[in-house]
Amino acid sequence: SPKIIGLTGGIGSGKTTVAKFIEEFGFPVYYSDERAKEIVNEDNVVKTKIKELLGEEAYDENGLYNRKFVAEKVFSNKELLDQLNQIIHPAVRVDFEDWVKKQTKYLIFKETALLFELKLNKECYKSVLVTAEDNIRIKRVMDRDGKTYREVQAIMEKQMPEKDKIKLADCIIYNNTNLEDLKEITEKIVFNIE
Ligand code: ATP
Repeated sequence: SPKIIGLTGGIGSGKTTVAKFIEEFGFPVYYSDERAKEIVNEDNVVKTKIKELLGEEAYDENGLYNRKFVAEKVFSNKELLDQLNQIIHPAVRVDFEDWVKKQTKYLIFKETALLFELKLNKECYKSVLVTAEDNIRIKRVMDRDGKTYREVQAIMEKQMPEKDKIKLADCIIYNNTNLEDLKEITEKIVFNIE
């Protein structure tokens, strides 16, 4: 069976950019956060459970997940957020396991923002953390999403501190410069995993 490499990083670290490079190098990447967004729309068991937890408004008239409503509802309610995650995370886990079974490469990657938070690194052969200085990450997300400095900072403050992730990671990609450098560092790391 293939070796699973966990790929993670906080908001604006560049983990998705790294994942795209990894795909260019010929290795499959499972995008956990992206798949989670699809699963809440596709999996009827998940949909029913979310409606039971948060109300019918969690889905719009077309049956599509109302991200804004859900985000507002769980933003300052840890209990509710935990319950929502207890619906979504196991469904993503099953989806990932199905995906793994279909892979033929010896090395495969799992991109997830919550690798260490959910202790998913324990189920990986190695973990790769993408990181950059706070100000650089904030600036990138402001440019990408049109958010304000404060908004990005608020999201960052809710995530696991960078110093804790650095302690847990097997490999670290420092993404403080440009995309050319990032691609080069990524290539070195990917082809040196043993
Ligand atoms: P999020 O968790 O918020 O989705 P992420 O970790 O997946 O973030 P990316 O989307 O890969 O981060 O990168 C954030 C933004 O910064 C993107 O617009 C990306 O193009 C840009 N970016 C990433 N790395 C660099 C770099 N080295 N130089 C310039 N721009 C970069």
